[in-house]
Amino acid sequence: AQPVLAVVGRPNVGKSTLVNRIIGRREAVVQDVPGVTRDRVAYDAYWGGRKFTLVDTGGWEPDATGLQASVAAQAELAMQTADAVLLVIDASVGATATDEAASKVLRRSKKPVLLVANKVDDDRLLADTASLWSLGLGEPHPVSALHGRSSGDLLDAILKTL
Ligand code: GDP
Ligand code: MG
Repeated sequence: AQPVLAVVGRPNVGKSTLVNRIIGRREAVVQDVPGVTRDRVAYDAYWGGRKFTLVDTGGWEPDATGLQASVAAQAELAMQTADAVLLVIDASVGATATDEAASKVLRRSKKPVLLVANKVDDDRLLADTASLWSLGLGEPHPVSALHGRSSGDLLDAILKTL
């Protein structure tokens, strides 16, 4: 079976935009309203002659346990079911407590985890992304899913892990 890559993170960080960028189509639903992706949705993706499955997550309404616990649970599920995980952070916001909770879960993973610093639309935010090393997931990969900036570099890094 082809490798499965799950995309996790807080609502509105740009997970679905990144998925669309990677699959090269507009299929993952992107909205300004957080939590719009209804369920986990799997897409076929291709890069560098490789084929893999990309799973977009999100859309869980924070239940009684709250947003932080739901994002951590999402990360846990991804870690157990996917071959590699992309944790997406909104670099224009920086690391939040919810991002830290998800990182804590993913740090236990024996599978590859890539830290994606999204919304780096221009050089202004580049320097700030260095602070994301503190999440303990290794090198942050700055991208702009919206504009495609550095998404090719990200895909190269992804493929190395699969
Ligand atoms: P999700 O909830 O994590 O799936 O986030 P979405 O993909 O639905 O995006 C949420 C909002 O962030 C939308 O308004 C997107 O257009 C915006 N967005 C996504 N990626 C970027 C980016 O790289 N730069 C900027 N400026 N906005 C982005
Ligand atoms: Mg989404």
